[in-house]
Amino acid sequence: MKKWLSTRAPAGRIAYVNGRYLPHGQAAVHIEDRALQLGDGIYEVTNVIGGKPIDEEPHLDRMERSLRELGIAMPMGRAALKLVMREMIARNRIPDGLLYLQVTRGASKRDHVPPKDAPRPTLILTMRSQDLAALAARLDKGIGVSTQPDIRWGRCDIKTVQLLPNLLAKQAAKAAGAFEAWLVDDDGYVTEGSSTNAWIVDEGGTVITRDLSNAILPGVTRLIMLEAMAEAQMKVVERKFTVAEARKAREAFISSATGAAVPVVSIDGQKLGDGVPGALTRRIRDLYAAKAGLKNA
Ligand code: PLP
Repeated sequence: MKKWLSTRAPAGRIAYVNGRYLPHGQAAVHIEDRALQLGDGIYEVTNVIGGKPIDEEPHLDRMERSLRELGIAMPMGRAALKLVMREMIARNRIPDGLLYLQVTRGASKRDHVPPKDAPRPTLILTMRSQDLAALAARLDKGIGVSTQPDIRWGRCDIKTVQLLPNLLAKQAAKAAGAFEAWLVDDDGYVTEGSSTNAWIVDEGGTVITRDLSNAILPGVTRLIMLEAMAEAQMKVVERKFTVAEARKAREAFISSATGAAVPVVSIDGQKLGDGVPGALTRRIRDLYAAKAGLKNA
């Protein structure tokens, strides 16, 4: 049996499902859970550093918004949920890691229309450690991105568990030797990464990232970075940019809770600028780290 599926190992890993803390390998949901059969659910992931979830409030804000947009009830109040998150961090004894939260519409007889007496939402929390050495290597050397067509739906602003197009794009990027996919809309504009927001820095040092709409996820890291850059009076514009523009950029990077700002040093195998992580990306990473309270950014 795969190590992460085993009921015995890794020792002590705990999951939370609907009110119960269980060994990771024994935790389960109903086979008619609507997320399993229909993709009817949302998720969040927060970075945990020193036992503390990073950017917790904006992640919970976005979680509540995703649920509201889909008409799924919050499975418990925010204060209670924060206690469960802390309990998970303590029980897993992972002070620095990633905390995943999933909420589904719950289990009910398979039907596109949810039943009138809404099923109880399913709440799942899982935790795992981060490969910090791999992250450090990405920060040090930078990563390549591969452009892929954005074949997703019209509500990419909701953080749903329906990630198949994202997975296919990431797989294609990996096959092309890149770390991340940059999704490109029908007009040639970059929307975002498969699990990250996309940024470029132009020749004049202006930082550019796509403006919010139904076409992208409103990244929490993106939000906090924008606030940090505004405080530092950096030049920032929220607008869409083409792949052609990105190829000519001075710097580029991706942002997400799992990696903050990771420098992009090539696009489709073509070196960006001088092919090494840029100084502004580093500065933005530092500004974000200071604002979000990351100690080992
Ligand atoms: N865009 C997509 C499609 C994502 O899946 C994610 C994170 O999972 C992000 C952007 C970055 O969002 P955040 O900064 O909140 O992690």
